[in-house]
Amino acid sequence: MRLIIASNNKHKLEEIRQILGGSFDEILSLREAGIELNTIEDASSFLGNARKKALEALALLPNDAVLADDSGLCVDALGGAPGIYSARYAGEGHDDAQNRKKLLEALKAVPEAERGAHFACAMVLARNGASEVEAVGKVHGRILFEERGENGFGYDSLFCYEPYECSFAELPAEKKNAVSHRRNALMMLLAALDTE
Ligand code: IMP
Repeated sequence: MRLIIASNNKHKLEEIRQILGGSFDEILSLREAGIELNTIEDASSFLGNARKKALEALALLPNDAVLADDSGLCVDALGGAPGIYSARYAGEGHDDAQNRKKLLEALKAVPEAERGAHFACAMVLARNGASEVEAVGKVHGRILFEERGENGFGYDSLFCYEPYECSFAELPAEKKNAVSHRRNALMMLLAALDTE
């Protein structure tokens, strides 16, 4: 069966492809499936946004399975912010570097012991007209005082994965993808599909 990923973010697509490996016959992005869709992410949770993206894409591709995700960074000292607003933390039209700068500024007076954070990723697989399986994966760590590493995207260079005492941006893709929030969500989703 074809799996269409309801995203055109190339970093996410690469990660999802690497994690899912041979679980589906063919994995395509929306654009590769010939669809242009810009879902307005106005739900109040990661899962709500992921479900909205999946169902809007499925309405255009009713014979395929559609996988949508919504993800972000939740920082304890900021009451869970930027959370669902992670992509536009520094404002609409700002980029990842500006988001990271704003985060460092917001946390500049926060000591190491209070810099706990987690990435969360909601995944929704929809087919046959409905959302079929939903999962939320997380990975815990802390926010560094300065950027470290060149790999990855988004907040990776500020997120310290404590078991390795490395930022996600210092890890090769395979190592990040073995422990990430996206990996955890996909594993739960695949396990739920297996038990159906
Ligand atoms: P989404 O495209 O609405 O899911 O927005 C996700 C935003 O959260 C991205 O723009 C990143 O800023 C951040 N984010 C999500 N997952 C990751 C990750 O694995 N590494 C770094 N940043 C991430």
